[in-house]
Amino acid sequence: MARNINAVAVFCGSNTGEGESYVAAAAALGRALGARGITLVYGGTHKGLMGVLADAVLESGGTAHGVITERLHGKGHLHAGLTIHEIAPSMRARKERMLGLADACIALPGGLGTVEEFMEAWTLNQLGEIDKPVGLLNVAGYYDPFMAFIDSMIARRFLPPAHRDSIQVSPDPFTLIDALAAYETITVPKWM
Ligand code: AMP
Repeated sequence: MARNINAVAVFCGSNTGEGESYVAAAAALGRALGARGITLVYGGTHKGLMGVLADAVLESGGTAHGVITERLHGKGHLHAGLTIHEIAPSMRARKERMLGLADACIALPGGLGTVEEFMEAWTLNQLGEIDKPVGLLNVAGYYDPFMAFIDSMIARRFLPPAHRDSIQVSPDPFTLIDALAAYETITVPKWM
């Protein structure tokens, strides 16, 4: 049975990356969330892909819920037009809050922060602490090297092959959202 995806936590670059493709993809994901009536939960800033994403959600009449840290807020990192915005005391508290609000997680291209937040969500699923499907919006093959590393983990027996299906990967926002809604929890234990 398909899951109800009412809110998605999106992790993405606080930079825009090189060229136009990442910006275009962030806007396309924002419009897709707006069109589907899915609330965006994200880092709450106007910077980089995060700002582009939130703008696109808001322009399509959707809901954007930002959760920023006190420290970043103090440095002036805030998107002024958000539907809801919250200030969390720390990065750790913020990640917990974002996952608490979301039914699923998506990573757009990004840097260390994006990968770290996404990996936490994926590993909490792997350990059974949460059951919130995760997916990569694989723009211009950005996550191909990442998935090659995952395949290497499987080949070297650090990850069960069945866990390859615990992540959804697509370049298309609607396909990705549909895959998250259709995701059936993988119950194969992580220890081989
Ligand atoms: P990065 O990929 O290293 O640019 O980091 C982006 C991720 O880390 C986002 O998903 C945010 O949750 C968080 N983050 C990093 N920098 C900021 C910022 N200036 N404002 C808000 N969140 C940020």
